Amino acid sequence: MSKRVFYTVLFLAVCSILGIVAVQTFWLNKAFNLKQQQFEYEVSVALLNVTDRLCEINQSELPDDPIEKLSSNYFIVNLNNSISPRVLELILLEEFTKREMDQAFEYAIFDCTDQTMVYGSYLSTDEMRVRTDDFPVLDKDEYYFGVRFPRMRSYVSGEMDIWWFSSIVLVLVIAFFSYALFAIFRQRQLSEIQKDFVNNMTHEFKTPIASIQLASYAISESLSNENRFKQYASIIQLESERLKNQVDRVLDITSLEGKVIDLKYESCDLIQLIDEAIQRVSALLDQSNGNVKVIESDKKININVDKFHFENVLVNILDNAIKYCVKQPLIRVELEQRKNKVLIKVIDNGIGMDEGVNRRIFKKFYRVTNNDLYSVKGFGLGLYYAKTIVEAHGGSIEVESNLSGSTFLITL
Ligand code: ADP
Repeated sequence: MSKRVFYTVLFLAVCSILGIVAVQTFWLNKAFNLKQQQFEYEVSVALLNVTDRLCEINQSELPDDPIEKLSSNYFIVNLNNSISPRVLELILLEEFTKREMDQAFEYAIFDCTDQTMVYGSYLSTDEMRVRTDDFPVLDKDEYYFGVRFPRMRSYVSGEMDIWWFSSIVLVLVIAFFSYALFAIFRQRQLSEIQKDFVNNMTHEFKTPIASIQLASYAISESLSNENRFKQYASIIQLESERLKNQVDRVLDITSLEGKVIDLKYESCDLIQLIDEAIQRVSALLDQSNGNVKVIESDKKININVDKFHFENVLVNILDNAIKYCVKQPLIRVELEQRKNKVLIKVIDNGIGMDEGVNRRIFKKFYRVTNNDLYSVKGFGLGLYYAKTIVEAHGGSIEVESNLSGSTFLITL
């Protein structure tokens, strides 16, 4: 699948998810409103029956439009006569129970004489207690009582079980779908990284193989000339050694995958370890006319590490400091001991990295995909190896970088 097709499919998939979420939200909202209207209708009919029965008791006429809806959960009922709280309470309970409206409500009666709401009670068909909440007083001179349903929203929500169920199913479907998309995305990234790795490896192996081929061909041509014979034989030796090192390096690093690393701890003099690492990059240093300066701590530092792996870590960092530098490489290695911690700083004057890159360079196979850099050889495994080893020692490795150089900090 081409990059363009992949991103178009990804875009359409995300759009369809958003579309489904929007449609579900729309219908959920609509269903809630419908349920709420249905509830208001049921309350109005029940209150109309209550009014009718109260008028019958008082032998008065039913007023026109006695029910007023002040909000979706607060209703006012206008009457021509005074109201007995005990009778009202009983009739309200009866009418609501008859209509299977088993939710809590509170009521209050307006007292025309001192213009206040009185006899406020909080009732429910399953519980009964007095509430101190004040009911709003309306600017009216006639008798009226107010009924409020404080838990109306949760009651209406509770009536929407099927809608909640379908929403949960939808959330699950979206979660699985997103996970599948993420997995496809990740898989694609991995396959691109793998492609880069194979390209790099082919490039890295091609040169020594070509040199070996040429040298062996030349050997067969110059068997009579001992000097030339030796020269070509040494090229074969050197290049096959280089080839072996590359293969070993890749195998070493990939074999760390998912395993508990078996570290062979020994006490080492840090300065000596650094000197040995510098020795191993001396050929590269000579080639680029570079220099490594070690700033020692006041005291001699001994560390308990796996010498083989830890030296490889230092070699990888020094190797990068030389490789990723376009001028004369000037590298400083600073050592410091703080309480029970040892800090090793490797500061270079190389090309540095962007901020976004800093976090990713420790990932397996990661290389900065700047075309100019591909002239610099590598597999994108050196820093992954460094991080894996330092962390296996219980330490940490960090990088700070800008376009005038990078500083790698190992804390043990
Ligand atoms: P490799 O060097 O084989 O590509 P590494 O894992 O050692 O792999 O490094 C990963 C990437 O981090 C490199 O491709 C390079 O872009 C960047 N990098 C590492 N060290 C430095 C450095 N000292 N200066 C600038 N860039 C660096």
